[in-house]
Amino acid sequence: MKISYLRVSVTDRCNFRCRYCMPEEEKEFIPHQEILRYEEIAEIVKVFSRFGVRSVRLTGGEPLVRRGIESLIRQLKEIDGIDEVSLTTNGFFLEEKAELLKEAGLNRVNVSIDTLNPEKFAFITRSDEGSLGRVLRGIEKAKEVGLNPVKVNTVLVKGFNDSEIEDFVRFSASYGVEVRFIELMPVGGEFFSRDNFIPVSVVKEFLEEKFGALEPARTVKMGPAKSFRVGSTGALIGFIPSVSQHFCSECNRLRLTSDGKLRLCLMSDREIDLKELLRSPNYTEELLERTVAGAFLLKRRVDGVSALESLGCSRKMFSIGG
Ligand code: SAM
Ligand code: SF4
Repeated sequence: MKISYLRVSVTDRCNFRCRYCMPEEEKEFIPHQEILRYEEIAEIVKVFSRFGVRSVRLTGGEPLVRRGIESLIRQLKEIDGIDEVSLTTNGFFLEEKAELLKEAGLNRVNVSIDTLNPEKFAFITRSDEGSLGRVLRGIEKAKEVGLNPVKVNTVLVKGFNDSEIEDFVRFSASYGVEVRFIELMPVGGEFFSRDNFIPVSVVKEFLEEKFGALEPARTVKMGPAKSFRVGSTGALIGFIPSVSQHFCSECNRLRLTSDGKLRLCLMSDREIDLKELLRSPNYTEELLERTVAGAFLLKRRVDGVSALESLGCSRKMFSIGG
């Protein structure tokens, strides 16, 4: 699989505290001086583009809480070979930021919404009840300014949102957005357990029972999601079986953490410290290029989880970026 996609976490901070991602009182945020500056991120992406990376996704933490994110987008869009810059957000600041982001050259956004019920939304994100409405207005605004296609990420949590599948089908159709169901991953915190995990196949079976066989959608495949049209509803639903069908040979992505560590795999703690290299007095672009070349070789050799040392992720999701 060609490695063409880099996820860049720009901050580990967030205005929400989603129960499966971040503890209520997080005390271990990365100190500001350890966070990559925008110029450093752009330098790294420039080198990655020489190795075939074409698409960059900004994530976090919440990328829209980092000041001046538009200037990073602008810098990334100027790099030869980078065709697409996208962003994954909780959507809270999207209504006010969408226009600026579009002007800076952002191509599209994914917005995370786990429930369409304002009270449940406040519960899972540990925010207040007005949050869901604000996020929905953010989606409308993103569509209006042309950050399309807007996609919605929904983490499946048994007993919490598995009763809302039909609501999400209606929502997809009426908002004209693809809703992608993501499996809850055992990353960091204590929220994950066998009792709240459901494979996405259960949702697929439910939809097939209700609406008949799902028709594969002709969408540009950028990642692990498989998308389907649901009967005559007009809904577009995707499934990301990140836990139940984890195929390393199909993985086209690398991850850069906000403190400048390159992760070859979400589920492996093996990291390469690019920030240390960038900030060392002996830094040269050639040195970075050689390090990145080594990382690509290592990533390409991986054709099964076992190849990447032991499976393990001691970081929490907000410090990697999903
Ligand atoms: N704050 C932004 C957001 O929520 O969209 C971007 C960062 S967030 C870490 C990126 C994605 O990871 C979100 O869609 C979120 O739902 C997902 N995520 C976080 N923790 C997860 C977990 N334990 N299992 C599955 N997905 C998770
Ligand atoms: Fe914040 Fe996104 Fe994690 Fe929720 S999932 S706490 S919005 S980083």
